[in-house]
Amino acid sequence: MTSKRFVLTFPPDATGEPITYNLIKKFDIMVNIVKADVSPGKIGHLVMEMSAPAKVLKEGLEYIRQKNVECEPIDKKIHYREDLCIHCGACSAVCFAGALTMGRKTAELSFDPDKCVVCELCLKSCPLNLFSIDIG
Ligand code: SF4
Ligand code: SF4
Repeated sequence: MTSKRFVLTFPPDATGEPITYNLIKKFDIMVNIVKADVSPGKIGHLVMEMSAPAKVLKEGLEYIRQKNVECEPIDKKIHYREDLCIHCGACSAVCFAGALTMGRKTAELSFDPDKCVVCELCLKSCPLNLFSIDIG
């Protein structure tokens, strides 16, 4: 049995096919949705853990990608240069996972790596290019 977290990115014109339902019913994959941000007509993100024998998991991933949905494993880490941050908040505005937040009272940026799903949206958002990816 293999368990792994993935980020699924749905195109704005996604058909609405019940992908997670089909993964469970047709492939017998255990699915645990960690985070969902999906609205009709917009790019959507879904973070989920999938558990199944490796062969079945591979078939499920092929099915997802056939539906024009990007599916990336979470095996990278995000780093940022906290010492150079000017707390402008631009990165927190794009971080749908809630890993980057601005303190209401302090107006300072906080980063919670446990919530990060490595969507990489913050990389482009920072005017000082303080984010980088650690592939490991
Ligand atoms: S990669 Fe950046 S924007 Fe995406 S979840 Fe992690 S901290 Fe947030
Ligand atoms: S976008 Fe860059 S400078 Fe602005 S709060 Fe985020 S890390 Fe700091």
